[in-house]
Amino acid sequence: MLSQLRSITQEASAAKRLDDALGIIIDGVQSALSVDAVSVYLAEEHNTGTELVLRASKGLKSKAIGKIRMRFGEGLVGTVAERAEPLNLDHAAAHPHFKYFPETGEESFHSFLGAPIINYGQTLGVLVVQQRTPRLFDEDHVAFLITLAAQLGASLSQAAANQDFNQSRSALLPKKAKQRITGLAGSPGIVIGEAVVTYSLADLKAVPDRSPASIPDEIRQFERAIASTQEDMRRIADTMRDVLPSEEVALFEAYEMMVQGGPIVDDTLARIRRGNWAQGALRETVSEHLKIFRDVDDPYLRERAEDIHDLGRRILMHLQSRIIEKRHWPRQTVLVGDSISPTQLAEVPPERLAGIVSVHGSGSSHVSILARAMQIPAVMGVRDLPTSQIDGSEIILDGYAGHLYINPSWALKREYSRLIKQEKQQSKELTSLVNQTAVTTDGVRINLLANTGLISDLTPCLKNGAEGIGLYRTEVPFQIRSRFPSEEEQYDIYRQVLESFAPRPVVIRTLDIGGDKPLEYFPIQEDNPFLGWRGIRITLDHPEIFLTQLRAMLRANQGLGNLRIMLPMVSSIRELYEAKQLVLQAHSELLEEGSVNSHEIPRIGVMIEVPSAIYLVDALAAHVDFFSIGTNDLTQYLLAVDRNNDRVAKLYDSLHPSVLHAILHIADAAQRHNKPVSVCGELAGDPLGALCLMGMGVHSLSMNAGSLSKVKKVIRSFSAEDSQDIVSGCLTLEDGAAVRQRLQEELEAAHLGGLIRPGL
Ligand code: PEP
Ligand code: MG
Repeated sequence: MLSQLRSITQEASAAKRLDDALGIIIDGVQSALSVDAVSVYLAEEHNTGTELVLRASKGLKSKAIGKIRMRFGEGLVGTVAERAEPLNLDHAAAHPHFKYFPETGEESFHSFLGAPIINYGQTLGVLVVQQRTPRLFDEDHVAFLITLAAQLGASLSQAAANQDFNQSRSALLPKKAKQRITGLAGSPGIVIGEAVVTYSLADLKAVPDRSPASIPDEIRQFERAIASTQEDMRRIADTMRDVLPSEEVALFEAYEMMVQGGPIVDDTLARIRRGNWAQGALRETVSEHLKIFRDVDDPYLRERAEDIHDLGRRILMHLQSRIIEKRHWPRQTVLVGDSISPTQLAEVPPERLAGIVSVHGSGSSHVSILARAMQIPAVMGVRDLPTSQIDGSEIILDGYAGHLYINPSWALKREYSRLIKQEKQQSKELTSLVNQTAVTTDGVRINLLANTGLISDLTPCLKNGAEGIGLYRTEVPFQIRSRFPSEEEQYDIYRQVLESFAPRPVVIRTLDIGGDKPLEYFPIQEDNPFLGWRGIRITLDHPEIFLTQLRAMLRANQGLGNLRIMLPMVSSIRELYEAKQLVLQAHSELLEEGSVNSHEIPRIGVMIEVPSAIYLVDALAAHVDFFSIGTNDLTQYLLAVDRNNDRVAKLYDSLHPSVLHAILHIADAAQRHNKPVSVCGELAGDPLGALCLMGMGVHSLSMNAGSLSKVKKVIRSFSAEDSQDIVSGCLTLEDGAAVRQRLQEELEAAHLGGLIRPGL
């Protein structure tokens, strides 16, 4: 049963059209359950509401397809959808909600079993099986249908996205308005650009379709890649002959034969001739062959699917080794990928990078934070994106709402061009605030600092009026290298940062890797990376890495004195003791060597971003010079929501009353001990969050350069007293949505709505 379930869902997900996916489901269910009728009803949105429409059936009359419609709650199918639970009946007609549709010819069916198809909480449709004999379906049937329906949500929405895209493609002449694809807001801003799909090399599945510049050139490249793969196989077989048993060596010989000729080569060549580039044609061919092998019942032959996959990857490697250097980046590049790494971002010439779209991740992932720092609009968590088909397409990206439009209509483009113009106008107005102070209307001064991790970001931070750096994320220079940077390399970076801001303060955070900030050259495999080896836990376990970094920081501070050291992920006092001990050790060594001459240790602070630290502020205060609240992690840990997981992204909310109460508790405790407290999480750079934080008495906010003017505008538009009243009101509300709405209303009333949505 498991293999039947798997093969139905896998095939349905791979279908390029929704109707194909439905056909696969209907056939699969009928052969697995041997029932008299199988039908799929899908929900359709109309101006008048949502209707369930019979979209495919085997058993019901075909003329009923597309005609039978019912509302949620209407008939048996509508009841399954409304209640979001299965219904198993031996006499369907006896149920009080039964509704007879003569077009279906279903009078001969007595028993009915329906299961809802739900994706991320949204009911997409109902899967129904029917039998002539009046009997309840047995437990196995019910379990099968529920399990299948539960898995179909994602497959159907992917197939629907592919189909929508293909339809809009075929309707390009005249261009048809493309419906909206919804993801999560990653970084604010709007852009109209060209999609460039990026993917990890050798990831065959992720290769997009692309039209080649020249088909004969593409064929030549493919033939060369085949020849190189053949050569590899021959060489491996020769070397391994004395080492491996003969049956293992035979595998490489079999590979060699497969690439000498035969369906993989011929089918790929045919696809290239039909207009796909070699890599895309290879992906299509390999996936078709994989499907055939995975479907067979013989376990030996099923194993061979892996061989084909492996061979495909090897050919791909040879194809890619020839094309890497030849990437073309359009003027308005919108980088699209399953997930986007800092290295992939760094590949695009900065002046051409206009937008970012990622299938995975959310607004609080590090790619989003990086995008905001670079002031590049981003949309994340776009699960339904037909990635393999959109390379080269025109795309509108709305980073405020998390919306995408592929091949947009002329009217939509005109509307977005108007909003882009308004945005430019607004940003001009905001620029005029750069030299003004961040002071409330009743005279309370707020410190506005910048978050960064990129040297290229220092000038924008200064230009936008940052009064210092509140968070320098040192992991970024570590992430874009292929090994740990040396003390000297780190010194150069930190010195540049400290010098550009001196005498203004610069808070450099010690290495905070792990979680969603991996280093390719220091792989960590964990089931729960966010609860695992992260931040200070790694650096205390690797004093050699920590001491090198501390030495580089302390040396860079020589003669400047504006360095502040910040420790991430502190969850106990012991970690603070140990870390301070290492700072002292590095400092005394440098004094001894004569590399620094000041006996003064720079100020040391901790991030409050782990729940245990909230209740340690009183105890920590005796040992630190300042606190900085990391609302990104604090939200993730308080709400138990992985900040990078788009599946639970709607639960991740830094305006959740629990998070606000925690911040208030930290701010009050720090103030009792006369220790400065700032916020350096993304909440500080959100105009709504900033309004809240100033009302809680947090007088130092650190954010990406692009948010500085927006937040300054908010600060200069409210009095501290008003903001306190607003926060007191927010703290009584039940959930984050209510808090957000209250704050939005305040901003709209102050004519500041343009800071949080497109348009003025
Ligand atoms: C935070 O967690 O709020 C923070 C600023 O650190 P990072 O986002 O780098 O984990
Ligand atoms: Mg953090």
